[in-house]
Amino acid sequence: MNSEPGLIAPDRVRKIIHVDMDAFYASVEQRDNPELRGKPVAVGGSEARGVVAAASYEARTYGVHSAMPSVTAKRKCPDLIFVKPRFDVYKFVSGQIREIFAEYTPLIEPLSLDEAYLDVTENLMGIEIATEIAREIRAKIKAATGLNASAGISYNKFLAKMASDLNKPNGQAVLTPKVGPRFVETLSVKKFHGVGPATAEKMHRLGIQTGADLKERDLQFLIYHFGKSGPYFYGIARGIDERRVRPDRVRKSIGAEDTFAEDIHSFEPALEGLRPLVAKVWRYCDTHNIRAKTVTLKVKYSDFNQITRAKTADKPAASATEIENIVTVLLGPVFPAQKGIRLLGVTLSSLEQAAEGPTDDLQFALPLA
Ligand SMILES: [Mg+2]
Repeated sequence: MNSEPGLIAPDRVRKIIHVDMDAFYASVEQRDNPELRGKPVAVGGSEARGVVAAASYEARTYGVHSAMPSVTAKRKCPDLIFVKPRFDVYKFVSGQIREIFAEYTPLIEPLSLDEAYLDVTENLMGIEIATEIAREIRAKIKAATGLNASAGISYNKFLAKMASDLNKPNGQAVLTPKVGPRFVETLSVKKFHGVGPATAEKMHRLGIQTGADLKERDLQFLIYHFGKSGPYFYGIARGIDERRVRPDRVRKSIGAEDTFAEDIHSFEPALEGLRPLVAKVWRYCDTHNIRAKTVTLKVKYSDFNQITRAKTADKPAASATEIENIVTVLLGPVFPAQKGIRLLGVTLSSLEQAAEGPTDDLQFALPLA
């Protein structure tokens, strides 16, 4: 705990909410297509090597779950309906729920499109009771999107995350500082957030089945067996998790550069070399809904001298193609070059949040819901 010299930081109890949409992708599909309602739905590929990205609650009763091979899912549930993912729609809904969160706190840490931690200790509405905030947020999400969300409320991220599962779907649960540590003791370690199947297996081999078992091991033992995760496990076994809710860092620029195996001497190969860099910075813009007005080209020569050329437009670039066009304009006067070019870079700055909805560029599939 950092504090100013001579001052002891008051150990304030935080109020953390973990909001998690219920069967997100599948629920969006059922919302938008009434024929899917009440039926077992899997979002994801039905082809031979496809994987279920999300399953409706009806499908889950058959044992179908996300990350399951589609073949297995179909065997478990022969009537399973496969639906193609529509990430543009999921991203749009994700933006809607983010706006609702932002009414309450700037401290929002998204885990994926449909999950986020909120620190509401000092919330913008001045609401004292975090469970009340969670109830309001869930009601607003329902009103704005027609979808159900669950929430967990606690004094740290780990317990808030565990709590959001307790009354799922369409429910919420609170774990107070009083009940948190005892709750952890009874919990099976394989249900712990941050304990994956491999770690759970390792814990079982070490005789650790529950939080209570974990609590019996000392810090040295946990660091010896689990390395950097040791202190985290030591803490959560006691219901302690000091990790802060970290909002998305505000970035001032987005850049990518590449050093080439052989020096470049002409325009065409230089543009070829820049294309993947443009694609990379654009991908970041697209997934974060950010647009840039300024494009900067960086050229480093074989003697390590470097130049930059920038162009700022009135309107932000709205596609990879637009950025590439600007890069092409900037690159033109670089040739003929006296020296070989060893490195090229593209940086976007004058960033702003995109006003329009997400693009329907699906090549950058997002993580599983
Ligand atoms: Mg979810």
